[in-house]
Amino acid sequence: MKTIGLIGGMSWESSAMYYELINKRVKELLGGFHSAKCILASVDFAEIEALQHKNDWVGLNKLMIKSARQLENAGADLIILCTNTMHLCSEEIIKNTAIPFLHIADATGEKIKSNGLKKVALLGTKFTMEKEFYKDALKSYEVDVIIPNEEDREIVHQIIYKELVLGILKDDSREELKRVIRELGQEGAEGVILGCTEIPLLIKQNDVSIEVFDTTKIHAERAVEMALKNENITL
Ligand code: GLU
Repeated sequence: MKTIGLIGGMSWESSAMYYELINKRVKELLGGFHSAKCILASVDFAEIEALQHKNDWVGLNKLMIKSARQLENAGADLIILCTNTMHLCSEEIIKNTAIPFLHIADATGEKIKSNGLKKVALLGTKFTMEKEFYKDALKSYEVDVIIPNEEDREIVHQIIYKELVLGILKDDSREELKRVIRELGQEGAEGVILGCTEIPLLIKQNDVSIEVFDTTKIHAERAVEMALKNENITL
């Protein structure tokens, strides 16, 4: 089994989910006493959030490269970055490390394509919804991506930064996200990418009528497949 390197802490609420998901999946596939071989480099989210909202992506690149190198030096065989937004730094991470990097949008795009969807909605931080990096990464999976209108993007962004990354789960906010997803469904979205690793804490498949793509789960499980690629099991 290969060792998965996780860059986490963005927020730790979702990194905890990653840890649980990768261990559950390894146990499911290998059984018995098996658990995931992994290393976590966890940052202080206060530093990240401050730089994000100052738009200091040079500073953020430096922090992400530092974490990725820590994982590489500690013996990780592959890296996953446990946040969608911070994939804005993925190119720099890849350039500055020698081990494979599993992009969250690639794992998600593969899943959407294999499920046969052609048009999906993307929910996440304003960085993820409004900048091009995430939609660009999905282009090779032949899927149209739509995002909420400006007012709703602000609502989703505030729910993430004022509540979800702080571990606050509110019924009112769940209802708001359900409404936003419903309206995107009316615009033709056949599925919705929960493109923020904390949104799955609030929204589950049962909450909405279109297909949900939980990026945390998809990413974590794809990382396990990479880690177990040479094991004698059917994935
Ligand atoms: N975890 C979130 C994401 O997937 C937001 C926190 C962050 O800015 O990294 O985008």
